[in-house]
Amino acid sequence: MTDDGEQRKGRDCCAESGAVNEQEERMCEKLKNGSIKLYELDKELAPLDAIRVRRRFIEEETGTTLENIGIFSIDIERVVVRNCENMIGTVQVPLGVAGPIAINGEYANGEFWLPLATTEGALVASVNRGCSAITKAGGAQVRILHDGMTRAPVFAAENVIHAKEIVDWVQAHRAELAAIAQATTSHGKLTDIVTFITGTSVFVRLEFDTKDAMGMNMVTIASAKVADEIAHQTRARLVALSGNMCTDKKPAAINGIMGRGRSAVAGIALTHELIEKIFKTDAATLCEVNTRKNLIGSARAGSMGFNAHAANVVAAMFIACGQDAAHAIDGATCITTVDPTNTGVYVSVTLPSLPVGTVGGGTGVGTQQECLKILGVAGGGNPAGTNAKKLAEIIASAVLAGELSLLGALAAQHLARAHQQLGRG
Ligand code: NAP
Repeated sequence: MTDDGEQRKGRDCCAESGAVNEQEERMCEKLKNGSIKLYELDKELAPLDAIRVRRRFIEEETGTTLENIGIFSIDIERVVVRNCENMIGTVQVPLGVAGPIAINGEYANGEFWLPLATTEGALVASVNRGCSAITKAGGAQVRILHDGMTRAPVFAAENVIHAKEIVDWVQAHRAELAAIAQATTSHGKLTDIVTFITGTSVFVRLEFDTKDAMGMNMVTIASAKVADEIAHQTRARLVALSGNMCTDKKPAAINGIMGRGRSAVAGIALTHELIEKIFKTDAATLCEVNTRKNLIGSARAGSMGFNAHAANVVAAMFIACGQDAAHAIDGATCITTVDPTNTGVYVSVTLPSLPVGTVGGGTGVGTQQECLKILGVAGGGNPAGTNAKKLAEIIASAVLAGELSLLGALAAQHLARAHQQLGRG
């Protein structure tokens, strides 16, 4: 190690030298003969040493040399406890910036540089072009429409009459259930309960205001207490704390219709002049591309999202900003519209489900936190909840930039050319 600071943060210089001390050698042997498990190393060694031994073991098992995985600067003391088990190092994803993008939101106001972590050549350049159009047009209009993270336990009822009795009891005891949830968190609030019956299965979709947290852990802990109470009071048998009507990390119409996490809408008016100057196309062509591709094409394909590539921008910003990358699936439910106007077009994106947070989860990892700082949203907001909403407004505006740019490229028949120039080695 070069100094204490680097040791603490986890820069693993032994990855380069290959040095492994005697104790680590012994641990490696134990791993090989099965007398210790990979995860047990955390109890025996300091985090950085455990990471190095595990990596060496994997190198030997797989006949590989992991030169890059072991080089990192993030604070592993925190990461190995909160974010990742059996850690062997990190994967680096290239990080680009697009912008500045002017945003006129209720929470995000001003010009922002967007951090985008991606390996897709041409993506950052494309979003950058959309940012330029939006900023020249006066800034994205953006609003948060709904805010609620959900967990939906599933219960088994004895018969359909019992099933109806369970939901009636739940609806009659909302205040008591909210108080039970409240006792588990100082920030979260149970804001709604929607019930569904299918035969003898009862789903109770609990919705929470999670303030600046994305909230999945927070609501899962609170929902466990609520579900126990429902089971206790109604004889409902709790089958699973998540009954998939939440719906977490699966493409689901319910999230598109009812919203999950932050729901946001963003829009921009573009003049004929700007469309011609930046996108080398015209309003009528943009409208036709959107209708035939994003609306008719998506409908014909049975798609749950009616957009060009919203998930691309959501995924890149989620990875950069420490969001749960699996939730990029929610970004795919975006609907993009292009309305003809007297002066050009009005383009909008509606994102019903953006599970985002600025505290908790991966937001505290050093590199991800720096990306949140670029956006001015690291940590809790004042008042609580405003930072997460600001982040959702920024991501919705970024998606708008991405949609504009790709629609423009398609309208001008430029898509393949951009990828050929920027995305090919
Ligand atoms: P978390 O890291 O578990 O908790 C965040 C905590 O931060 C809150 O519980 C809250 O404590 C505290 N907090 C401090 N300041 C806050 C503020 N201004 N606003 C809101 N909370 C504040 O994060 P999480 O967002 O609940 O969960 C995200 C994690 O869940 C991610 O790592 C994700 O990958 C994972 N996840 C879990 C599940 C699951 O089923 N458990 C499913 C999907 C993803 P108090 O509650 O005490 O107020």
